[in-house]
Amino acid sequence: MKIAVIGAGLSGLSCAHELERFGIRPDIFEERGRSGELFPHVSSMMELFIRPNRDPVEYLKSEFNIQLKPLRKMRKVEMRMPGIRRDVTGNLGYFFLRGQYEGSIEDQLCKKLRSKINYNVHADYEKLFKEYDYVIVCTGNSHVAKTLGLWDNLFQSYLRGAVVLGKFEPDKLIMWYNDTGYVYLTPFSEDMASLVLIVRNIAPEELDDYWHLFWENGNFDYKIIESFTLEHISGLVYPHQVGNVLLAGNAGGFLEPFLGFGQINAIRSGVYAAQAVAQKKDYEKLLEPLNTDVSRSTLLREYLNISGNRSINLVTWGVTLPGIKQLIYNSRIDVLKYGAGLLKFLDKLTGERISRQ
Ligand SMILES: Cc1cc2nc3c(=O)[nH]c(=O)nc-3n(C[C@H](O)[C@H](O)[C@H](O)COP(=O)(O)OP(=O)(O)OC[C@H]3O[C@@H](n4cnc5c(N)ncnc54)[C@H](O)[C@@H]3O)c2cc1C
Repeated sequence: MKIAVIGAGLSGLSCAHELERFGIRPDIFEERGRSGELFPHVSSMMELFIRPNRDPVEYLKSEFNIQLKPLRKMRKVEMRMPGIRRDVTGNLGYFFLRGQYEGSIEDQLCKKLRSKINYNVHADYEKLFKEYDYVIVCTGNSHVAKTLGLWDNLFQSYLRGAVVLGKFEPDKLIMWYNDTGYVYLTPFSEDMASLVLIVRNIAPEELDDYWHLFWENGNFDYKIIESFTLEHISGLVYPHQVGNVLLAGNAGGFLEPFLGFGQINAIRSGVYAAQAVAQKKDYEKLLEPLNTDVSRSTLLREYLNISGNRSINLVTWGVTLPGIKQLIYNSRIDVLKYGAGLLKFLDKLTGERISRQ
């Protein structure tokens, strides 16, 4: 079977890895000279979002046969909202290195593959689908889904990232958020970290204002050594297969809209796409649990967007209350599933209406 995979990012590489397990070596096309973004960053994989499973590394290994080595465990999360600061400790997930660097997730996945990656090739699915039995689109963007008329915008955000020097706790994620967006800091080491600002529903030129506001308000003594700006777009795609073309990862609308995390969804959808073509399975059916998770996360995001800072504070206060905090962080409770319900419960508890109109 002749299969083309467009994009050697997380979904494309995971797809190729699964195809190889079925004895198929796809042709992989990657427009960059290497896999991964051109800038380094540290990503987080939080166990909260893969419930009822607990450990993301174990989950990827047992469910998708993908064994990844994290940079380190995430043991602390500090949440900072307007007027509130909350800390959570425990086995909260992992930090991973991302980008074109030794040990990054992309580097680890590339080293597991035997298939050829054709670098510096900008592939066009409209040409490839005539030549190949299947084309799996893993481009990390919405272009193909939009061309096919399958894409519905959910949130259009812009992202400003930076590598900063300073003093950091290596196992701690710091997150600042309010109703316009959020910033997270994830450390490479004790003296270097990546910092990412994501603001929703703004024009690209407005991003600078939010960036400066963040630095002014925070009064940080971090030193920026590198920075970058990207579009961060989240959308709904349906269907995910048209003829012999399948869409996976961000290209299939699997960037979860709650925090803009998409690593696990990219890996999951890449593996499902491979299973669909190799085993002649219904891709849409394989994607059902993933689609459910994305819809739940969309619901939470929409709720917070509409109800503003007050409800963000309320949620943070609620989830870090003694008892509730233990229930959430030390159990296998499915946070996405019950999150929206919890919001409504808190709504009633305080006797004020924060829910959607
Ligand atoms: C700065 C930043 C921080 C993030 N942090 C987190 C985090 O902490 N946790 C988390 O879960 N997620 C995070 N994400 C999101 C996560 O990285 C993405 O959801 C994930 O990488 C999506 O994988 P993908 O395979 O869909 O796309 P990508 O990983 O972007 O890969 C797409 C690949 O396709 C290639 N390509 C595109 N078009 C073509 C073409 N026509 N021909 C050939 N090649 C092509 C690109 O060059 C790229 O290599 C972050 C994203 C960014 C940008």
